[in-house]
Parts: sequence; C-alpha cells; structure tokens
Amino acid sequence: MLPTRSLTLRACSGRCFWLLFLETAVTTPADMDLGAARVFAVTLDGKAMAAMLRAQVKKDVDVLRQQGITVGLAVALIGDDPASQVYVRGKVKACQEVGIESTMQGLPATTTQAELVALVDLWNADPAVDGILVQLPLPKGIEQRAIIDRIDPSKDVDGFHPFNLGLLASGRPRLVACTPAGVMHMLKVYGQAYGWTPAGKRAVVLGRSITVGRPMSLLLTNADATVTVCHSRTPDLAGRVAEADVVIAAAGSPQLVKGAWIKPGAVVVDVGIHRSADGSLCGDVEYSTARLRAAALSPVPGGVGPMTIAQLMRNCVDAAAQRRGITFA
Ligand code: NAP
Repeated sequence: MLPTRSLTLRACSGRCFWLLFLETAVTTPADMDLGAARVFAVTLDGKAMAAMLRAQVKKDVDVLRQQGITVGLAVALIGDDPASQVYVRGKVKACQEVGIESTMQGLPATTTQAELVALVDLWNADPAVDGILVQLPLPKGIEQRAIIDRIDPSKDVDGFHPFNLGLLASGRPRLVACTPAGVMHMLKVYGQAYGWTPAGKRAVVLGRSITVGRPMSLLLTNADATVTVCHSRTPDLAGRVAEADVVIAAAGSPQLVKGAWIKPGAVVVDVGIHRSADGSLCGDVEYSTARLRAAALSPVPGGVGPMTIAQLMRNCVDAAAQRRGITFA
C-alpha cells in the first residue's frame, strides 16, 4: 500500500477558530510484515495554532482601541546575551503585528539592582503600561526573584510573580506563565478537534521550574488531570513516563524522553529546545521514535515556541482588560 497523507481542517468552538492539523498515516514495508498500518502521531502544529491565537488577540486589541485603550507592553533587556536579544526582537515584532504598543529599554550588563528596580517602579506607576516583561536570565549581581517580586502583579504578563503563581495554585488563575499557558491552549485545541480532555488522565510533567514545570503541573491539576511532577532527583523516569496519558517534557535535556518510554496513544508536548552542533534544533523528546507511539506530538521547532509568544500577547491584552474590569465577549 502506498503512503497516504491527509490534511484535516477542523472547526473549533469558542476562541479556538480554525485549526490545521497534519495527520500522516504511512504504511511501511516493516508494517506490512506485521499486517498492520502504522499511524504516526498527529502533529500539534504550534505555528498554526499560534497564528489563530494571535488573530483573536488582534481582534481584542481592536475592541479595546474602540474604547480608547491602547495596550502597552514595556520590555527590559539587560546585558548583551544573544539569545535574549533574539527573543526580545521576536516579542517586539509580535506586538507590532497585533497592534500592541511596545517599549524596549536596553540596559548594559553593568546595570545595578537599584537601577532596574527604579525602572520597574516607573513602569508600575505608568498608566500607559499594561504589561512589564524583564527578559531573563539577568546578569550576575541582579537578584532575579527580587525583580520579579517588584513587578505590579496586575502587569506581570510573564506570570512569574508569587501572587499570580499563588492564584494559579488556588485554582483562580489570572496571569499565567506564557509557555505552560500556551501548552494548555494547544491541548485545548487538540481536545476540541479530537474529543480529548486531560480530565481524568494521568499526566507527567518533566521539570519543576517556576517558568514552565511548576505552573504546568498546576494547570493540569486545575484541568482535573492526575499529575506527577518529575525532576532531576526522580528515580525511574522511564517508568513514570510509561504510565502517562499526557507527557509534558520540560527538563531542558536533549532527547531525554525515548519513544520506547511513551505509552501508546499518549499526548506528548515537547517544551525543550536545543541547538545541536550541526545547527539543527531538537527538543527533550526523541521525535523520530515518539511519533510512532504517541497519539499527538508537538514538533521542535514549530511547536511550543510560537505558542509562548502568542500567549504573551494574550496576557498583555488580558492584563489591559483586567485592570479596567473589561471582559471580552
Ligand atoms: P530549568 O529552569 O533549567 O528547569 C529544568 C527542570 O528540569 C528542573 O526542574 C530540573 O530538575 C528538571 N530536570 C533536569 N534534568 C532532568 C532529568 N534528567 N530528569 C528529570 N528532570 C530533569 O529549565 P526551564 O526554564 O523550565 O526550561 C526547560 C526547557 O524548556 C529548556 O530546554 C528550555 O530551553 C525550554 N523552554 C522552551 C520554551 C519555549 O517557548 N519553547 C520556553 C521556556 C523554556 P531540578 O529542579 O531537580 O533541577
């Protein structure tokens, strides 16, 4: 039998709009020996989902503009870390595309804690600033936690402030960290298209950072999954992953999760991003083998990365609306 490919365009309700999934079903000679067609995982296409999310954000920006409100994001970039510069450029560009006014303040690596605190205070008090983002990591000598804690929680579009993490932990999320919120959006879109839900499922999250793993585990708990959080001291990682219906890999270790570990039919989201010596990108999951067992899998690149930036735009608009008591239809 010849390889078959099908593109599926599905309508999702609410804010999910149109979704393009690439489904690939291929029969290989090896499969024919087994007398069965092998179905590869549905690709969780972060690029397509992020484009749809940004389109909705743009509409909401326009709704606010009609009420005389211009959504504003202030970004601080301290030092000359090349990766941070690329990330900030991407965020500023995304703002332009959806109509958010962005201010980028570049500061030298010699910036003191007091100088950065003063800048955050200035933005906290500025009514034109709806969202404040201090690009991490910060240079040595500046205490990251103190800066995060200084940001007005109502403008904390990164969702790292303890107040916002606390709200998430208490099941009343307001501004949620962009990467895990983007992952949840992916799961929601997939669920609406395929009749799937995290509720009642066993989920495993690899990583417990406040930027990804920890909020991710809280979001899945709030969505009624039974969640196991794994970290560098977790024994038998393969065994934990093998039990999971949902795997979120955010350990920051290239191709840590082997395809053979994955429970057939699991939904797998790969948050990790790593550049190999040959310049190619890979994630925390061994993609080539995982796609033979998972029901759905996010690629790297083109998976979680675009969702993170789109979710930042979402958070900016939500922060602007929440501060003024506005809700979107
Ligand atoms: P991080 O702060 O370094 O945290 C990594 C977490 O993984 C830690 O909790 C660590 O455990 C755990 N870990 C490390 N090795 C492990 C292992 N062998 N088994 C199980 N757990 C292990 O990293 P992060 O900021 O959360 O980011 C994680 C990955 O996601 C990175 O590759 C990062 O580049 C990527 N990322 C991507 C995006 C995106 O938009 N695509 C956004 C953010 C992050 P301990 O707590 O015990 O140290």
